[in-house]
Amino acid sequence: MLYAKERAEIADCCRAMLRAGLTTGSGGNISARIPGEEHLCISPTGILYERMQAADVPVVDMSGRTVDGVMLPSSEAPMHLAVYAQRSDVRAIVHTHSPYAATFACLREEIPAVHYLIGFAGTHVPVAQYATYGTPELAEHAVRALGTEFQAILLANHGLLAVGPTIERAYAVAEEIELVARIHYQARTIGQPVILDDAEMKRIIGKFHSYGVQPCEEE
Ligand code: 13P
Ligand code: ZN
Repeated sequence: MLYAKERAEIADCCRAMLRAGLTTGSGGNISARIPGEEHLCISPTGILYERMQAADVPVVDMSGRTVDGVMLPSSEAPMHLAVYAQRSDVRAIVHTHSPYAATFACLREEIPAVHYLIGFAGTHVPVAQYATYGTPELAEHAVRALGTEFQAILLANHGLLAVGPTIERAYAVAEEIELVARIHYQARTIGQPVILDDAEMKRIIGKFHSYGVQPCEEE
């Protein structure tokens, strides 16, 4: 099977997303770009994650045409393709309907630097303008909000989009931003949280580059 490892990783990650409460049913979607190839593997549309196998994950080219697999690709393939076209640093995308992030997305309020872990996304998490799910308009709005510096954005009245150089990293971004969204919600229910300024966030983002890198892994 073409790209068996990446397709299995996507199926596993979809299940992890479901079990972690970052989505429900067949909501959300995950993709990975194959380095050196004009192909990406993307979760199928409308399939319950618990039963998903690697072979159920379609492979599409950069115009969205299926090159392997029998399932139809995610309805959000246009958004994934548009992000890859804009950001050469992005190799994986995780889109969730995680409840706390989606709460702020419904308020159309960005998530500020209420906790240093927001650094997984950038100095804050911006909100992309609303458009119907699966449309080229949503893809356009998502790309605009993501720009070149953010690793996560909110999709108005919808959910979260997280990106990264690997599936593991994009998933970690989605998970950490859901935690920050929950902390922000909780803090707002009992008071007014103190927000970290941009200079401090830039310091934290700088520190993240070497966080968890052991001496034996340094180039
Ligand atoms: P798919 O099942 O087509 O991936 O759609 C789910 C979703 O989250 C739409 O935004
Ligand atoms: Zn969605």
